[in-house]
Amino acid sequence: MYPKIKIDLSKLKKNLDAVSETTVDKGNCSLAIVTKVLCADPKAVELIANHPKVELIADSRIKNIASYTDIAHEHGKKTMLLRIPMQSELEDVVRYVDLCQISELSTISLLNEEAKKAGKVQKILLMIDMGDLREGFFFGDKALIHDAVKRILDMENIYLYGVGVNLTCYGAIIPKFDNLNGLVEIAREIEIEHGVKLEMISGGNSSSIYLIDKGELPEGINNLRLGEAFVLGNDTAYETKLPGTTDDAFILEAEIVELKKKPSLPIGEVGVDAFGQKPYYEDRGIMDRAIIAIGKQDVDIDSMTPIDERIEIMGGSSDHIILDVTHTDGGYHVGDIVSFKLGYGGLLKVMTSPYVEKEYN
Ligand SMILES: *Cc1c(COP(=O)(O)O)cnc(C)c1O
Repeated sequence: MYPKIKIDLSKLKKNLDAVSETTVDKGNCSLAIVTKVLCADPKAVELIANHPKVELIADSRIKNIASYTDIAHEHGKKTMLLRIPMQSELEDVVRYVDLCQISELSTISLLNEEAKKAGKVQKILLMIDMGDLREGFFFGDKALIHDAVKRILDMENIYLYGVGVNLTCYGAIIPKFDNLNGLVEIAREIEIEHGVKLEMISGGNSSSIYLIDKGELPEGINNLRLGEAFVLGNDTAYETKLPGTTDDAFILEAEIVELKKKPSLPIGEVGVDAFGQKPYYEDRGIMDRAIIAIGKQDVDIDSMTPIDERIEIMGGSSDHIILDVTHTDGGYHVGDIVSFKLGYGGLLKVMTSPYVEKEYN
């Protein structure tokens, strides 16, 4: 059945070995592996749960976490919620999540009540915004931070496990010694002013791991949360490849359903395409155009690369992608399979699409 995503679990394991060695052995950090880009694929989760260097299994969606809470616990791992929770999902947070990233006092207060009902003490990681301008208390609002901490420490069923930061997501701000050290300083201030010990200072995602090899991860940062570094081997700060990793643990395969010689310019008045965009075409004369049976419903066209470098992706719609196979010396036919490497966005969509078959090897 096509389209198909081929998942090489041994390559994925190699990536996990490599990023965990850097993070845990070299960086002295605990490791949270992030499953959201894989839509919490059960075989991948099994691999993560069995890895001795992983401490937490993290996701942004509770539905994904709920699918592996038991297996995580059986293997002595904790579950972690990355997206600050909706007030409407707190019952599930208490049920499935060991460590919850959070940034709103009103939500923490409701979480305290929910935890009390369940007879649980809920661990939280208070998010601090160090400039990326997504979630978290703004680092300059010290009074607000200390006020929040004071109130949290009064809540019987909440345990302030630590603080965390997220970078390189909205504002594309790169983690550096200075902004991460700013987080460590805030943590130390909290500890001194409120007489508590913070167990975790979580220093971000796959854009922070490069600091370990440079020797610039500030002392005090003791956790990283890695998704893209694990699945694709990417350092997302400077777009380099992490040593010992591969980017081809996931290969997408799709089948050619039409292959014809046609012009490169559409004929007639140009309106808008299926997605309301006005397309631009380059005149390359008559081309060999192949249509593969996969589309924007299943993959991100800008985040897939044909393994055969002679092929070029021309564009696509919901269910079709058009390839220029002019320079492949007639090597492709209707019914043939074309293979692609995927970027983060492509992988996210492929793993989420129910129309893409999964094959493990
Ligand atoms: C998605 C996410 C991560 C993991 O990001 P990668 O770039 O895939 O490593 C870490 N933390 C938070 C809060 C996230 O939302």
